[in-house]
Amino acid sequence: MRLTRISKVLVLMLAAVFLVVAAFSVSAGGAAEEERIVLATGGTGGVYYPLGGAMASLWSNEIDGVRASSESTGASVENVNLVNYLESQLGLVQNDIAYYAFNAVEMFSDDEPMESMRGVFTMYPETIQIIARGGAGVESVEDIAGKRVAVGAPGSGTEVNARQILEAHGITYADIREDFLSFAEAADALRDGHVDVAFVTAGLPTASVIDLATTTNVDIVSIDSAMVDSIIEQWPYYAEVTIPGGTYGGQDSDVSAVAVMAMMIVHETLDEDLVYNITRVTLENADVLGDTHDRGREVTAESALDGMSIELHPGARRYFEEIGLLN
Ligand code: GLU
Repeated sequence: MRLTRISKVLVLMLAAVFLVVAAFSVSAGGAAEEERIVLATGGTGGVYYPLGGAMASLWSNEIDGVRASSESTGASVENVNLVNYLESQLGLVQNDIAYYAFNAVEMFSDDEPMESMRGVFTMYPETIQIIARGGAGVESVEDIAGKRVAVGAPGSGTEVNARQILEAHGITYADIREDFLSFAEAADALRDGHVDVAFVTAGLPTASVIDLATTTNVDIVSIDSAMVDSIIEQWPYYAEVTIPGGTYGGQDSDVSAVAVMAMMIVHETLDEDLVYNITRVTLENADVLGDTHDRGREVTAESALDGMSIELHPGARRYFEEIGLLN
């Protein structure tokens, strides 16, 4: 009886020693040293999601000790929150939303300033596209009053742009029936006649709009040039752009629109070398990103500071100093 108890104790002790040794060898052996980072992107029907997936693979392949993954989210507004409160290390966001969040203005005016996020680089223009169902009687933004409108996903930057552009035309949510839908949901709803208009803020061309335009008669609604000027005056992160004729099936002529810039943000506590490497590897592989989406080709150092709306992370700054873009 006594012997049995002693041998049980011995077995337990041996097991404990074994576990400690096993745990130690894992931590010494590399797998546990790998740094896991998550990039917050957007909905599956947009550009952030596929491009963010390509970036995460690039980082895992090209940066030693990094295992990156991307996640689908509601996009910009959700992503500034995720990064600022360190639920994600990195995020893709619009430069206007980053500015509003960092400075606690516009729809963030009741919040604490989100000063824990930092800019890494800007990427490509995201055009605010106003898509109307053919036959819905929407030829101008003014015609949207009284319509059923997909204004963007909950937590998206798109929804902020929809609100501002409607407001510039004297239209509020009291004048429309708004639906908070992702790009993919909005495309389905428009095709099925459940909504008349959808707002899409994303790089051109946007997958969900390409799909929609191949099966459904849609009009891309222009913003008058005088109105473009007043929108830019009120919210200076907008720039005037054209959606070239032929971008989508059935769209023959150029459409005048406004755009913001897509950018990468990180939490301020991310390691300087890590952010330096992310900046270098991303900006030096635009050809790889271009295989995923055309706009990926514009993710280069040349335009990486255009429209940068918040303080840079020191790791990104070091890269830009090294290549002579900053001093
Ligand atoms: N800029 C969009 C937003 O924040 C998302 C664009 C995308 O998914 O490509 O709402």
